[in-house]
Amino acid sequence: ESASVLVPFDGEGVLSDGRRIHLLANVGGAADAATAAAASAEGVGLFRTEFCFLDRVDAPSVDEQVEAYRGVLAAFPGRRVVVRTLDAGSDKPLPFANADHEDNPALGVRGLRIARRSPTLLDDQLRALALAADAESALVEVMAPMVATVDEARDFTERARAAGLLTVGVMIETPSAALLASEMLEVVDFVSIGTNDLAQYTLAADRLLGELGDLNDPWQPAVLRLIGAAGAAGRRWELPVGVCGEAAADPTLAPVLVGLGVTSLSMTPRALGRVAAALGAVTEAQCLSAAEAVLTSATAVDARAAASAVLGF
Ligand code: PEP
Ligand code: MG
Repeated sequence: ESASVLVPFDGEGVLSDGRRIHLLANVGGAADAATAAAASAEGVGLFRTEFCFLDRVDAPSVDEQVEAYRGVLAAFPGRRVVVRTLDAGSDKPLPFANADHEDNPALGVRGLRIARRSPTLLDDQLRALALAADAESALVEVMAPMVATVDEARDFTERARAAGLLTVGVMIETPSAALLASEMLEVVDFVSIGTNDLAQYTLAADRLLGELGDLNDPWQPAVLRLIGAAGAAGRRWELPVGVCGEAAADPTLAPVLVGLGVTSLSMTPRALGRVAAALGAVTEAQCLSAAEAVLTSATAVDARAAASAVLGF
């Protein structure tokens, strides 16, 4: 694994026979956004807004939020920036958003579910985002984390549109959301697959336990089939399907994801060059064959080997 070797990125993800794949960055604040822009990311595919407020005891005011969001938007003028509403809870508890104790925090009131208790927290964030987007004339898209039902997606979309945000999506990080991707896309404009949580919830294996790393693997065939279900829904509706989990940064998996119907990949900026190089080495037909091969694999090892055989790396 040559993860430490930095391959330069020229700003374009393109398959060898010409199809564009959007390569975006994951960021947690203004400093990350500057790094991502310097690395030529096309835009931001995941702005983890909870990272801005990890040290806060009280909820940030709308003004404070506007300030934090403008710092990221300013790094990508005229570019797509996908902002995720607070994904507080589980591995990222925020004192102002989460309960002191939950027996099973990964299955608890986290992400969008916080709005059940504190709808104002979500509405304030959406208002702050709309204000920040206006102030920077930015192309903001907003998405919700930890969505499981179509009703949640509909409610989130209504709130976001009421706040003045026009492009609205949900993350696909529960098996439920993946299986309902087509119905989700009837109410939202795009979906983005969070493979870290999708693997955790599909294999029922805590993502924080290194001991279960072999289960928390996006190459697990059950995870790949759920990604395939979301990709197929995106093709049906001709709407964007992104991946913003660690899987997007795996150069062998990236072409497979494209073959499964994924239209953008968002990752840590330092992975952009290696993923672009992998995509540039394969045709769309190879991506489709690799996807077909993983969908009939029984194990993670077999899936990876089958993809490698088709792709040649
Ligand atoms: C994911 O779950 O894959 C994801 C992108 O979100 P996070 O890692 O922040 O939970
Ligand atoms: Mg997640």
